[in-house]
Amino acid sequence: MKSDKHEKRQKKRIATVVTQAGREPFEHFGFVNPPIYRGSTVLFPTVAELGTPSQPYTYGTKGTPTTRALEKAWSEIAGAEDTVLVPSGLAAIALALLTATKAGAHLLVTDSAYAPTRFFCDGFLARFGVTTEYYDPAIGADIAALIRPETTAIVLESPGSQSMDIQDVPAIAAAAHEKGVCVILDNTWATPLYFPPHDRGCDLAIEAGTKYLSGHSDLLLGLVSANAKWAKRLRHTFNLFAIGSGPDDAALALRGLRTMALRLREQERAALDIANWLAARPEVSRVLHPALPDHPGHDIWKRDFSGSSGVFSIILKPASEAAVAAFVDGLELFGIGYSWGGFESLVLPFDCTSYRTATKWQAEGPALRFSIGLEDVADLKEDLDAGFARLTS
Ligand SMILES: *Cc1c(COP(=O)(O)O)cnc(C)c1O
Repeated sequence: MKSDKHEKRQKKRIATVVTQAGREPFEHFGFVNPPIYRGSTVLFPTVAELGTPSQPYTYGTKGTPTTRALEKAWSEIAGAEDTVLVPSGLAAIALALLTATKAGAHLLVTDSAYAPTRFFCDGFLARFGVTTEYYDPAIGADIAALIRPETTAIVLESPGSQSMDIQDVPAIAAAAHEKGVCVILDNTWATPLYFPPHDRGCDLAIEAGTKYLSGHSDLLLGLVSANAKWAKRLRHTFNLFAIGSGPDDAALALRGLRTMALRLREQERAALDIANWLAARPEVSRVLHPALPDHPGHDIWKRDFSGSSGVFSIILKPASEAAVAAFVDGLELFGIGYSWGGFESLVLPFDCTSYRTATKWQAEGPALRFSIGLEDVADLKEDLDAGFARLTS
């Protein structure tokens, strides 16, 4: 439901909107943030009012004022009609796919997708007669040739996990809509702050709130936002599963939201500084960061995105496994771990050959993914510099 306040905020810039969206202090005695409403049962004053729309809340699984505050805020930020919250980013992907799939359906999924997205399609949806076909992330408008009468959804992720391939989202969305196919985007890297998913033609957009929305590595959360065409179907599927996220997690996410623009801006700046520094290192073969002009998707990135976040990858020049382990294991400030988007820097060795099927992952050396946190860039460079000494010694 869009209020006057919402319309007014539409004219404000995103850093302002994240501080305002979803807050209704005078519904909560003037307190700036909504309280944490814990609850299963919701009481109705009379039998006549049971199950009628006279009350906005009917049962805990369908949401509380705390979860609704985050849903509303996210819808406003993403330019969506509605948003639902689920317990993880992967649950968000699963819910989006279940909203836009039926028995016998054909799905088109980018070969650069987050690997667990593939596992859900191949390991779960396949049991219900859903066929998944993987496509080259660089396909653009040529996706039209792969769409079959039974195709129900196309899954995009831009940039793709680890490999950082940029996709032509508007071109793929246009081809999909010509044939009535749902467009699902995993927008975790850019977030709606840097890529407005629904303005670019996506029907359903996923955010792993675990990453930049949380920002503090202390929360698991997923969000699925929908445009007007898909909002009802998304909410309906969500209610069938009763797979909501709890009020404590929503409150943590709302807390993260208020500093999200600030954190992203700083992590963007730091990541670009370090990416450029790495590109000049003799030990590095290539830096995969879409904001660098030599990235193959740079022109599309410049056209469609308003910024870059703190995650990028590099390909080292050929080096032994032991040398790479010495580089990574000895880093003081970079943790080794999955996930990303927190205040602390991370590094992760990866190899896409183990799961890619439609395209060949061609790396001339070992590959590393970095998530740049909020440390001082000079300290991060010193840490990496010492790492390079271990790599080459
Ligand atoms: C981390 C991640 C997810 C999954 O989020 P979880 O909350 O960890 O389940 C989905 N998509 C992308 C691109 C991710 O990086």
